[in-house]
Order: sequence, then structure tokens, then C-alpha cells
Amino acid sequence: MPPTETVLVTGATGYIAQHCLLQLLQQGYRVRGTLRNPAREAALRQALRQHVDADDRLELVVADLEADTGWAEATRGCTHLLHTASPVMSSEPKDAAELIRPALEGTQRVLSAAAAAGIHRIVLTSSVAAISAGYPAEKRTFAEADWSNEAGPIGAYACSKTLAERAAWDFVRQHPEIELSTINPVYVIGPSLDGHFSPSADIVRLQLQRAYPGVPRLGFPLVDVRDVASAHVAALNTPAAAGKRFICNTGFLWMKEIGQILNDEFASQGYRIPLFPIPDFAMRLMGLVDGTVRLQLPQLGKTIDYSTQLTRQVLQWEPRPLRDSIIDTGRQLITSGSL
Ligand code: NAP
Repeated sequence: MPPTETVLVTGATGYIAQHCLLQLLQQGYRVRGTLRNPAREAALRQALRQHVDADDRLELVVADLEADTGWAEATRGCTHLLHTASPVMSSEPKDAAELIRPALEGTQRVLSAAAAAGIHRIVLTSSVAAISAGYPAEKRTFAEADWSNEAGPIGAYACSKTLAERAAWDFVRQHPEIELSTINPVYVIGPSLDGHFSPSADIVRLQLQRAYPGVPRLGFPLVDVRDVASAHVAALNTPAAAGKRFICNTGFLWMKEIGQILNDEFASQGYRIPLFPIPDFAMRLMGLVDGTVRLQLPQLGKTIDYSTQLTRQVLQWEPRPLRDSIIDTGRQLITSGSL
């Protein structure tokens, strides 16, 4: 992609999107970002200015996934699109449509505007929630050919990501002039450019806040936000990436291991995390009243793995060690007073 071309990034205020903006600007591209709240533009520009001098190559416009207004203007003159905007919540919503409608209809709306504007290369931020949800928790490795089982107990977020990604692939089948790649990250952690984290960073935040009396037998596949952004930019730029899904996963860590890394680094500053095991029966009791805990119960004591062979091969992707991501997240949460 020649740097003279303009990349549209939807959801520019997002945790992942800001790192995508930064890397695109650092590589010399012109970028147009969409946001739904114009009051956040100044803070976003200020955050980016700490790392790159490129105010003149960044334009911000207002558009909401739930309305047609603004998308024709947003896409006009762009050749490439990074569609990252989609609602992310830390707990199950009362009404699943709150997540599904903007994700699915928003993707259809953005892709239609992109096609009308002549955008020919799209990278969609999907998730492993579109790959591995809705199956019994058994030891297996998921890969790009897998799709979540919408008929299983998958939760509103996984449903929103699965339906939105399927809709994107259906759309490009009807528009063969457009090339699509998807990036499918696991739980994303790492520093935030403007101090707003995604709910996924709660994996670190809640432990530092000592929100639990100990650690359940739960773990998470994790990846750093900077490595997720570099995969997006590589997918835009790599011809062989067209038509492919790319998993971004650095590895699986138990909550106890995450807590230990945080203790090693921050216990001397007064952040000592209790690492007593929380028994499975206590988690099951909590699951009776908490829908978010209930969704995690099948994962108790189980690991989950995702292959990144394709991502490493095609995108030349090499993620940083998770220890660095956990410490960088923890340090920012502590020093910014966000705990
Ligand atoms: P985030 O910081 O909450 O970003 C979500 C972005 O979507 C925000 O910019 C948000 O705008 C925007 N958005 C939500 N609803 C919208 C609407 N109706 N209209 C326009 N924009 C809307 O979370 P994130 O982690 O960076 O998520 C970015 C993408 O990565 C999402 O597609 C998410 O599903 C995907 N993802 C995230 C993870 C993870 O662990 N964090 C893992 C896999 C995939 P506001 O800033 O105005 O709220």
C-alpha cells in the first residue's frame, strides 16, 4: 500500500484502534478515523502526539455504527479500511441485541459504504470469539478453519463477533473486487495510549485491585495490543493475506501465573495479590447469580490453545513475551491511578 493512500480506521477511540492509528502514522500513511463522540478527538490527538508527529496526516470524522449518517463521507477517497469498531462489554448484557445489532448491522453498513466508495482492501477486527465459542471445553487447538457454534451456549459477545464476521465474508463474496482479511485476537492486554482500556485489561486490573480473595482455576489466552495492531497493519500490506483469517495469540496463562508475575514486579510497591486457590464449587455458586461467571464455568481447570502458524508465516508475526505485556499494563494502571 503506497503511503499516499488513505486508510479509514473505524472506532478510532478504541484501545486496539489507537495502536493501529499510531503504527499506520509511524509508517507514513494518511489516516482517517471515525469516532462517535467528537469530544474525545483532542485527547486522542494528544495521546498520539506523545509518539508521532503526524497531526496533519490524521483526520477524524463522526460516525456511529447504528446510523447511516457520516459513512459516505468517512469512506470517500479512502482505498483501505480497518474496521475495528464493535461494542465490547465486560459482562453479559440483559438484551443480547445491544451487542449483536451494532456489530452485525454496523459491519454491513460500513462495508456497503466502503464498496460504494471504491475501497478495495479491508481488514476486519474479529475475535477468537468467532472461532471457538459454543463447544464443550475439551483440550484441543483451534485454528483459522474453525467457526464458533452459534447453536451452543456462546454468549452475546461471541454471537455478535461470529455473525459480524460471517456477514463480512458473505459481503465480499458478493463484491469480488474487495479483498478481506480478518484478525482474530484472543484476550488483549498491554498499555493504552490514552488511558482508556478495553474490558479485556480487567484480567490485570481486577487482580491488582485484589477484587478476588484468591485465584480460581481459570486462565486466559493472551496477546499484546501492540502485536494485535502490527498484525492489522501487516494484513493491510501483505497481498498473500487476502481472503484469510489470522489468529493473534501469544499463549495461555493461569490467573495464578498472571498474579505471580504482578507480585514479582509490584508487591514491593504495596500491590500483593492473594494467590490462594478458590475452589471450583465456590465459582459454581457464584455462577448461579452471575451470568458472566456462569459462561466461564466450563473453562474451570481447562486450557485452550489457538494455532498462530498462519499468522506467523503470512504476516511475519512475532509477538513479544506476555510478561512484558502484563507488567506494562500493571505499571500504567498503577501510575495513572486507574485502579
Ligand atoms: P474498545 O476500546 O471498547 O473499542 C471498541 C470501539 O468500538 C470503540 O472505539 C467504540 O467507540 C466503538 N464502538 C462501539 N459501539 C459503537 C457504535 N455503535 N458506533 C461506533 N463505534 C462504536 O475495545 P477494543 O478491545 O479496542 O475492541 C476493538 C475491536 O477488537 C472490537 O471489534 C472487539 O470486538 C475486538 N476484539 C477485542 C479483544 C479484546 O480482548 N480487547 C479481543 C478480540 C477482538 P467509543 O470509543 O465511542 O466507545
